[in-house]
Amino acid sequence: MSEIDSRPAAADLEAYRADAVAWLAANAPDYSGAARAGLTVAQDIDLGRAWQRLKADAGYAGITLPVRYGGAGRSELEKIIFCEEEMRYDLPVLYFGVSLGNPVPIMLRHAREEDRARLGPPAIRGEQIWCQLFSEPSAGTDLAALRLKAERRGDGWLLNGQKVWTSWAQIADWGVLIARTDPTLPKHAGLTYFYVDMKSPGITVRPIRRLVDDPDLNEVFFDDVYIPDTQRLGAVGEGFKVAIETLMIERYAVTDDSGYGPPLEAFLSLARESTINDRPALEDGEIRALVAQVFIERQGLRSIHRRAIAELAAGRAPGPEGAIRKLLLGRTRQRLGAAAIDLLGADGVRMAPDASQLRDFARSWMDPSLRIAGGTDEVLINTLAERVLGLPQDFRPDKGLPFNQS
Ligand SMILES: Cc1cc2nc3c(=O)[nH]c(=O)nc-3n(C[C@H](O)[C@H](O)[C@H](O)COP(=O)(O)OP(=O)(O)OC[C@H]3O[C@@H](n4cnc5c(N)ncnc54)[C@H](O)[C@@H]3O)c2cc1C
Repeated sequence: MSEIDSRPAAADLEAYRADAVAWLAANAPDYSGAARAGLTVAQDIDLGRAWQRLKADAGYAGITLPVRYGGAGRSELEKIIFCEEEMRYDLPVLYFGVSLGNPVPIMLRHAREEDRARLGPPAIRGEQIWCQLFSEPSAGTDLAALRLKAERRGDGWLLNGQKVWTSWAQIADWGVLIARTDPTLPKHAGLTYFYVDMKSPGITVRPIRRLVDDPDLNEVFFDDVYIPDTQRLGAVGEGFKVAIETLMIERYAVTDDSGYGPPLEAFLSLARESTINDRPALEDGEIRALVAQVFIERQGLRSIHRRAIAELAAGRAPGPEGAIRKLLLGRTRQRLGAAAIDLLGADGVRMAPDASQLRDFARSWMDPSLRIAGGTDEVLINTLAERVLGLPQDFRPDKGLPFNQS
């Protein structure tokens, strides 16, 4: 569990950052940038596992997770600092983002002690990967509408149904999931939370082909998949509560100012080199207005970031205004991408096979993931309306009805 209450002093945090910067400078180049060029996905995953192992040996893996399970037992602020510095390198860390972000920490809170001790260390060292099987074809934003069925069988449960959009299910060893154990109860009440061995008989993982060709997303089918009751996390019927706890673990996701797209400076360079009506694009009124708008937003986002860090340093949770950050980052990334594609003309619609979303505007524009995963734009707007502005809640017509009658 996060040890946020043992808040490190500011001077200690500065020293921690200095150590992390030096350690990354000495080690990251061998695992990032040119070291990844031309690798297949399988080779890149292997490189990622080696990087994860190196980090674990140096105390930089599972930073907030308990030492007895292989973590570093440090604070959320230290984790944020390391992530900020690590993000400066183009490292193969995405394969472990979901795994160590939510499923592993929640397993380490609720699994039996013997299972935590067995499953924690290999996950933190990157030897095993966990996925998060929440979304279904009819349950994304409205997670409690999920239909994957779990029925009692002897000492365990039999699972039947489907999950979708499961990141890295094809390489996952384990997954956490929520299933419906009682359809006669209202939708939030009849759910139970489990973890499952992804190599269990009856599990089929099918890839989803993406426009940008990233190989991360999958559908996962369950046909009479048996799991022992010892793999239940939390009480029967309390799955929704554990799901919310899972989603709250990463209280503050670190992203850079550009939301993982090319930065404003890259757009400025492009606008200097391009022309509109035979004049430098940077002299065009619309382009100048866009640059000014994105710059202003960036300053605002930096303020929100500093405020969130100050809240964490004071031992409090960052407020719902963090939703503004993801909302603006996602939208800005696409606005800059669309304008850049216009400036590039025919070249703008050409995407190199190894285009990186950090450097290539077309690649970045074609991937709206940031605006969907972890809460869609519309849902974030609802959060801001209800929790920041205090507006009335959305109408919930199925509230209190048994799930099988709604
Ligand atoms: C890259 C990526 C990785 C993902 N990885 C995972 C994963 O590992 N595990 C997992 O379980 N899921 C994963 N997801 C799924 C993700 O959690 C869902 O896509 C997300 O919750 C939205 O659900 P949905 O796609 O079913 O859309 P829906 O919920 O069906 O929404 C459809 C549209 O309706 C709007 N909408 C819905 N409800 C409201 C409302 N109340 N008010 C206003 N508008 C509304 C939405 O904003 C959206 O525009 C991933 C998604 C992406 C893009």
